[in-house]
Amino acid sequence: MPIKIIQAAAFFIDNTLQENIAAAIDTHSGDIKEIASPDILLKKYSASPKENWGDLVIVPGSVNAHNHSFQSLLRGIAADRPFLEWRDNSLYKYSPRMRLDDIYSGALFAFTEMMKCGATTVSDFFYLHQFGSESDEAVVQAAKDCGIRLVLASTMYDWDGAPAGYVENVAAAVERTEKLMKKYSGGMTKVIPAPHSLHAASPDMIKAGHKLAKKYNTPYHIHVAEEMFEVEQVQKEHHTTPLAYLDSLNVVDKHMSIIHGVWLNENEIKTMGEKGAHLIYCPSSNMFLADGISDIPCYLQNNVPIALGSDGACGNNRISVFEEMRMVSILQKAKTCDALCVNYNDAFTMGTSNGAIVLDLPIGKIAAGCKADFVGISISDFSMQPLTQKGQQFLPNLIYSMQPTAIKRVAVNGQTTVINNTLTNIADKRVLDLVHSTMQHLEKD
Ligand SMILES: [Zn+2]
Repeated sequence: MPIKIIQAAAFFIDNTLQENIAAAIDTHSGDIKEIASPDILLKKYSASPKENWGDLVIVPGSVNAHNHSFQSLLRGIAADRPFLEWRDNSLYKYSPRMRLDDIYSGALFAFTEMMKCGATTVSDFFYLHQFGSESDEAVVQAAKDCGIRLVLASTMYDWDGAPAGYVENVAAAVERTEKLMKKYSGGMTKVIPAPHSLHAASPDMIKAGHKLAKKYNTPYHIHVAEEMFEVEQVQKEHHTTPLAYLDSLNVVDKHMSIIHGVWLNENEIKTMGEKGAHLIYCPSSNMFLADGISDIPCYLQNNVPIALGSDGACGNNRISVFEEMRMVSILQKAKTCDALCVNYNDAFTMGTSNGAIVLDLPIGKIAAGCKADFVGISISDFSMQPLTQKGQQFLPNLIYSMQPTAIKRVAVNGQTTVINNTLTNIADKRVLDLVHSTMQHLEKD
């Protein structure tokens, strides 16, 4: 087994700064093989290559559990408009014009920007299927080219009010998704089913997505109750509430991760807890799109695991999970007037190890058996100071004050992908050139 030893000033393990520690990485699988003192590892693996991260502190890579990569290309377009106006002038106007190359460029742009901000895994909830599974393959290729770990949430969408490229019938969506799930089932790329939402996927489509998740024992993702209109629509059509309706379809269980869950009532959140479902929370996006504020303390009380997502970069408009860790905590404090409702430990767990739960991958922790997804933080960056000898401010600073300037190095699966804000697998200029040429094409009338 080929091993590489990674050393640094300290590792942040079990929420404490640990000095005099190194990691032995299996470079074939990308797994952390062993964590121990450098003396032990250097002796045991004396012939193995060494990589020294100098004065950086290594923390687990953050997990972006919800994104729409192509939306990075729409950032800044039709901003500050009501939802339906924004949707028609941005999303619905530009996405049908996207060629395969543009889908690739958007994904590469989104993935590289978030990786520079310390995300090592992304779940891309992807629904532009104008080129069938070739669209999905373009996203997979972008992830491979920049080196980020990808979970492609293969969207199943059959509401025909949307652009034609989003829409498939149930049989076609199942066939395309299942083929991809068989092809990509773990490691650097994994595919999971993702019926879009109650307003964009029929009950049959939602049940089909859930069935695939059960058959292959994977999670499935679905947007639920992001905006009030969905609650009103479900009330009108089914005389009940969104999660209660999903429960009547028998799709609320341990496979389910709902995205947003802004407008669920206490009973619905309780049902999620009882049935083992999860929440993926996107606080900045909910603020930017004026959705409302999810009742995070209620989810916590009902033991619903919560992971974080940036959502699409045209509805945030940043694309950083460390930013979402800060936001979940300070937004909930403002809502509840309770400074203890979401603390920095909770926020860190949501942005790292809880990502492992909603994506069912061994990530988000620095421990033997987990993937070697690391972010190197410079504690000399002003935003990480002060830091006294006991290091007790490290985690509060990481969550509440850190700026991206402190993120000096990123590795995914043991391989360095970013050094000093510069990509290692692809030239930064290449990404910018692709974005530029795609935008020239999209803006042509
Ligand atoms: Zn979304």
